[in-house]
Amino acid sequence: MIRHCCGIFGVFGHRNAVELTYLGLYALQHRGQESAGIIASDGKRVTQWRGMGLVSEVFTRESLQKLKGDFAIGHVRYSTTGSSTSKNIQPFLVEYAGTSLAVAHNGNIVNAGLLRQKLEASGSIFQTTMDSELLIHLIAKSQGNFKEKVIRSLKQLQGAYSVLVMTEKQFLAGRDPHGFRPLWLGRIDGAFVVASETCAFDLIQAKPLREILPGEVVFFDARGCHSYQAFSGRKHSFCIFEHIYFARPDSNIFGGSVARVREKLGINLAREHPVPADMVIPVPDSGTYAALGYARHSGIPFEMAFVRNHYIGRTFIHPAEEIRGLEVKIKLNPVAELIQGKRIVVVEDSIVRGTTSSLRMKTLKNCGAREIHMRVSCPPLCHPCFYGIDFPTETELVASTRTVEQIRKRIGVDTLAYLSPEGMLEAMPLPSEKFCTACFTGKYPVPVRDRISKLQFENQPE
Ligand code: 5GP
Ligand code: MG
Repeated sequence: MIRHCCGIFGVFGHRNAVELTYLGLYALQHRGQESAGIIASDGKRVTQWRGMGLVSEVFTRESLQKLKGDFAIGHVRYSTTGSSTSKNIQPFLVEYAGTSLAVAHNGNIVNAGLLRQKLEASGSIFQTTMDSELLIHLIAKSQGNFKEKVIRSLKQLQGAYSVLVMTEKQFLAGRDPHGFRPLWLGRIDGAFVVASETCAFDLIQAKPLREILPGEVVFFDARGCHSYQAFSGRKHSFCIFEHIYFARPDSNIFGGSVARVREKLGINLAREHPVPADMVIPVPDSGTYAALGYARHSGIPFEMAFVRNHYIGRTFIHPAEEIRGLEVKIKLNPVAELIQGKRIVVVEDSIVRGTTSSLRMKTLKNCGAREIHMRVSCPPLCHPCFYGIDFPTETELVASTRTVEQIRKRIGVDTLAYLSPEGMLEAMPLPSEKFCTACFTGKYPVPVRDRISKLQFENQPE
């Protein structure tokens, strides 16, 4: 299946645009590990380098030297099973009517299936199975100057998109009117930079200016940047799961620090679900800040009782013989000496399928934990995401058909408790109505009536 949960980065008007984009993608690597790419322009000619794998695997000194120009866009794509094909690497580049047109997209277009059918019926030939390619076709078919073409095209898309679009001479950044995915504008040495998250600005010492607004399209040219509000009156729907799990804790998105939000989630979790215990441990890295919050509020000592192996890489080769729970154990190993005989609160940011959690809790039991109390820093995840987070279907989500007690038994812990929806929303830096919480509530802010055709779209042979 084609799903997008990606990171995008762009620079306009800097002589080191390519190197800055390369570094920006490093900082956004957590948003996608399947493929990476950069497209650059010197105002006349566009050059590109793209490949499967991590940023460190895709680019070499030589490949970076081939990229030339003072503006560039880059993309890292999320790893999903089944669709790892080099055709789907972004940014996506085409030549049409004597110009080059490139797109880098983070999000998911919910009316992709219908739009594609319409375009194909009128003769469009698609090269990939990505919904992002739609934007290129729509721009090519639109009337007007570049600005008008892009805005007209974006207006036909429904769903989530934070996008960067460029030609040899033009560069723009846009965000869907609901603002599902984050997108930031910054400055470095008089040049403009755009990134999914502010952690990318920190690395290159760019100054964060502001979040690009929902529905805003910003055009960059030699005279500066011009902003247009292309939509009005739409409800903001910032993805709450970016704060819970997806974004990097050192980023600042949707009005606040991700690390602080996660600590607050942990504090609220401790307030709602206290339990007598000897230590609080996180499931690193995603559960670490919530566990710190839980420990601080409860007064129970914080311990790092799971050690994470950071060097597994993408292409871990399974030994021929099956070793039970290998996938999970290679990533995290408990420190038996800390755990033995202890009552433990384990803080996890979320439970999706429940499979890794179950294996992890077994490793704690095997180390002699006396009691395991699992605490989750968000409510039960019951509904799939159609706006860009790689959540499985309802049937695969462990909480969609089970009670908390049934999940507790399945995972094999002494107690299990989730943060309440109120506790989650209270931790957010903006009023609760500004967030999309569809994965918890099933209330989708943009209708997903294209659900069936979307599935057909995704199942097309690649
Ligand atoms: P489970 O126990 O449901 O199999 O896995 C839960 C773990 O998956 C948690 O540690 C959580 O941080 C992580 N997780 C949550 N959402 C995602 C996601 O979208 N992709 C991946 N790869 N992991 C996720
Ligand atoms: Mg995790």
